[in-house]
Amino acid sequence: MSSIVGPGGVSRPALGTGSRRSARPGRTAVELLIACAILILSASAAKVTGLPGLDGLVAGHGQAGIPGRSERSEDIMVDLSSHPAIRTDNRCVNGRIMLTFEDGPDRYTRSVLAVLRAYRAPSTFFVLGGKASERPDLIRAQISDRHVLASHGWSHVRLADLSQEELREQLAETQRVVVQAGAPEPTVLRPPYGSQSAAVEAMAGEFGLRLAGATLDAGDAAGRTVDEVVRTVVDQAKPDAIVVLHDGSAQGETTVRALGGIIDGLRARGFCTATMS
Ligand SMILES: [Zn+2]
Repeated sequence: MSSIVGPGGVSRPALGTGSRRSARPGRTAVELLIACAILILSASAAKVTGLPGLDGLVAGHGQAGIPGRSERSEDIMVDLSSHPAIRTDNRCVNGRIMLTFEDGPDRYTRSVLAVLRAYRAPSTFFVLGGKASERPDLIRAQISDRHVLASHGWSHVRLADLSQEELREQLAETQRVVVQAGAPEPTVLRPPYGSQSAAVEAMAGEFGLRLAGATLDAGDAAGRTVDEVVRTVVDQAKPDAIVVLHDGSAQGETTVRALGGIIDGLRARGFCTATMS
């Protein structure tokens, strides 16, 4: 793995690209309208005026020296005004489901956050340290919405293939930038590609991180349609399922568009949504 030499001669991981509905009328419809208005307003502001007061929606976030990042500099706000309703009752009649998001924070994260906020559905974000270092504003937004921040390493590499020093940097630097952005120190690590080993587990333990995989892949980053993603999660969900979604993939619009249907469908089946702890 390539590395760069940071201040003080400390070798740090190179910043890799790292990436690669049911109806309930009434008050919730008003909330949706508000959420949509925020989405639309935010999109206009980011693309037209670029007002710095809008919590960092502007282009130009930390692109320097990071290959392949410039095209991801602006938040993409997805217009969800056609979504008919929002189910905000979150009762654990048949168990709970953990929705998790990987590979962000990125340009679809703010849209994901808007949907989760409308549904009052705190979730868990497995962030990449390299991206978190560029978008601390999104980390702060996640925290203020009571989501849980967890680690996905620094640059989405196979952790089991790294040297001890590289592995340490991947974990240490990610913890550092997340805490620096104002979040509690992550306590959960999901290695990219499920790349685990005894060394990875031991090193994670040094940072107070426990390894956590997932039990249900929504397939949102694998080219599935919105309806397919919704059906995959809603039909296959079992109590205590850990669902993998992506706020940091190129197919983020699919994720955002599927998210409401997923939460509605899960709640209609008597599942509540919960964070990982
Ligand atoms: Zn990932």
